[in-house]
Amino acid sequence: MTNSQNLFEKSRIHIPGGVNSPVRAFGSVGGTPIFFKRAKGAYVWDADDKSYIDYVGSWGPMILGHAHPEVIRVVKETAELGLSFGAPTELELEMADLLCSLLPSMDQVRLVSSGTEATMSAIRLARGYTGRSAIVKFEGCYHGHADSLLVKAGSGALTFGNPSSAGVPPETAQHTLVLDYNNKGQLEELFAKMGDQIAAVIIEPVAGNMNLVAPEKPFLDALRNLCTKHGAVLIFDEVMTGFRVGATCAQGLFGIKPDLTTLGKVIGGGMPVGAFGGRGDIMQQLAPLGPVYQAGTLSGNPVAMAAGLATLKLLQIPGFFEKLSDTAKALTVGLSDIAREKGIPFSAQSVGGMFGLYFRDAPPRSYAEVMQCDKAAFNHFFHFMVEEGVYLAPSAFEAGFVSIMHGKDEIDRTLESAKKFFSKA
Ligand SMILES: *Cc1c(COP(=O)(O)O)cnc(C)c1O
Repeated sequence: MTNSQNLFEKSRIHIPGGVNSPVRAFGSVGGTPIFFKRAKGAYVWDADDKSYIDYVGSWGPMILGHAHPEVIRVVKETAELGLSFGAPTELELEMADLLCSLLPSMDQVRLVSSGTEATMSAIRLARGYTGRSAIVKFEGCYHGHADSLLVKAGSGALTFGNPSSAGVPPETAQHTLVLDYNNKGQLEELFAKMGDQIAAVIIEPVAGNMNLVAPEKPFLDALRNLCTKHGAVLIFDEVMTGFRVGATCAQGLFGIKPDLTTLGKVIGGGMPVGAFGGRGDIMQQLAPLGPVYQAGTLSGNPVAMAAGLATLKLLQIPGFFEKLSDTAKALTVGLSDIAREKGIPFSAQSVGGMFGLYFRDAPPRSYAEVMQCDKAAFNHFFHFMVEEGVYLAPSAFEAGFVSIMHGKDEIDRTLESAKKFFSKA
């Protein structure tokens, strides 16, 4: 038995399923989850001292690579001064100023401790601001695990949703409508029918929780225009894409100004952080100024702020996103070329430092198309690559991530391993 297998067996006694977040359990790919004990740069080491090139990066935050010396330095320094005060600090001010200076859509921002908190609070704020209850999301997008967002489509496209998790009251799900990603016509139809009841539309501007699905620009433009026309709040959930797809997030990349933006992952540099912010007139509805309540004991935690600030400053270096994007592209183009040579139905694409791999002829445009990918083929690929020392997301339905520490060596080694797999297939 490996150390990972042993640790997993023991973890299952006092932790449901042995993990503290479901995807870590390898339910989708099968087998035993790999327990990690340390990481540096582009690499992680497991409990059995085997090393892997890491394409998960803690699901996105580790954009500078693991244990970046500058991030670790400020974390240690800040920790020496006290871990939490439950009172305002200058580091929060610095973080808020930096976020608002980097994002033209953001007049004000509130800091929280997770992406889930950020999206949940943004939804409440949008409802408080508009005085409306209905919200719209897109199938396959994930916005954390708040009740109103764990909803799947109802019987028809324009009917209210059903809970996608036990424990979510149907009455809660009934306020959420679920539409198809990239379906502009459906969106127009919905707004024509009930635009004046919609508090908010929340979207991953590049979807990264159903593998990677890129948005079509006319779809995003229509979304912006319809929300403006009908007085609905447009929320860009950039918890994953924020400072991951580019220096000004997906909103900068696609030239869309959302009303509210949620952030997380990268802005915490590996520490638990989330944020939501946007238009001043909306943000001022929040307590203590306004009637919409929101709070957090550890919100704006100094150590988390320090890690996030150090990360955000380092990725402002000119050329950072060019290098990151080139790395992701070298990987996806390399993989596609190998698969094409061997005649295997496979495609891949990247946006900034995120990428998608699909066992399917072309990149999917919607959740339904994502579901057409050959899941068994991915699972074989995943386990083969693990053997080779390459750690991909343990699910065919998750995006992948590169860090600035991934270079030619790591990409070449990954492509070599993939070539072996595709040659056997
Ligand atoms: C990860 C993620 C969340 C949830 O963030 P947590 O910190 O895990 O609560 C929300 N939205 C998107 C788009 C995410 O990728």
